[in-house]
Amino acid sequence: MSPLLPILNYHGIELRRGEYPWLQEETPYVILTDSFEFQLDYIANEGFTTLSEAGLGTWLDGKSSVRKPIMLTFDDGHISHLDHVMRALTGRQMKGLFFVPVAHVGQPGHLDWSQLKEILAAGFEIGSHGYRHIPLSALTHHELWKETQKSKKILEDKLGLEIKSYSVPRGFYQLRIREVTMELGFKFVFTSRFDVNQPGQDPWRLNRIAVKKNLGFKDFTRFVSGDLGYKRLVERAKEGLRRFVRPDIYDALANFKRNLTHG
Ligand SMILES: [Zn+2]
Repeated sequence: MSPLLPILNYHGIELRRGEYPWLQEETPYVILTDSFEFQLDYIANEGFTTLSEAGLGTWLDGKSSVRKPIMLTFDDGHISHLDHVMRALTGRQMKGLFFVPVAHVGQPGHLDWSQLKEILAAGFEIGSHGYRHIPLSALTHHELWKETQKSKKILEDKLGLEIKSYSVPRGFYQLRIREVTMELGFKFVFTSRFDVNQPGQDPWRLNRIAVKKNLGFKDFTRFVSGDLGYKRLVERAKEGLRRFVRPDIYDALANFKRNLTHG
């Protein structure tokens, strides 16, 4: 079996720039359908198999016979997942796991309950991306527990199935999130820690590779092969900041950097 599992993390996908309105902090993560489909074709041509949650569990246990596994995850419950992602995956017989911030369901630009059911009916999987899509590091333990529990319960009540996966909102991971999600019965926690995964990896702290707007195709091919280079160090440093710096300060720093870069 393969010693490595890359889990890709996508956000919004659009046909042309400006197809949808985006928040300023979302724009670095929005990629065009052309690039997205090019990446999917590359994955297919390279012989990767996309895993479901069950396939992930088997792989983490070291019992998978899949030669080149990969996982595709989509955060934020954006309407583009229905408009563009479903068709692209279905046409290539690929699996996908969609993470929904529950309070955003049915809000402008976001999937509503019947659309989420369509995604399930098409054979895809749905996980929780928290309730309000807020950084959890600022919450008390009780607030964190409620926020996370509520997201799981509402999804399960509305969709009528067990929610096993959780994607940490805005990437602010902490060890107490691991405890709370485990207590609540989640089987897998997907973080923004930039790395591939190894067999025996902690299922409550899975690494992911965010596919951002500025990611070139050459780097994409390197990352899915597990060659992360210096980018691992840079992203690790950012993840460290998100863990230890207050979210409002982290956002202020990120905005400051954006303004410097884009004039
Ligand atoms: Zn998100």
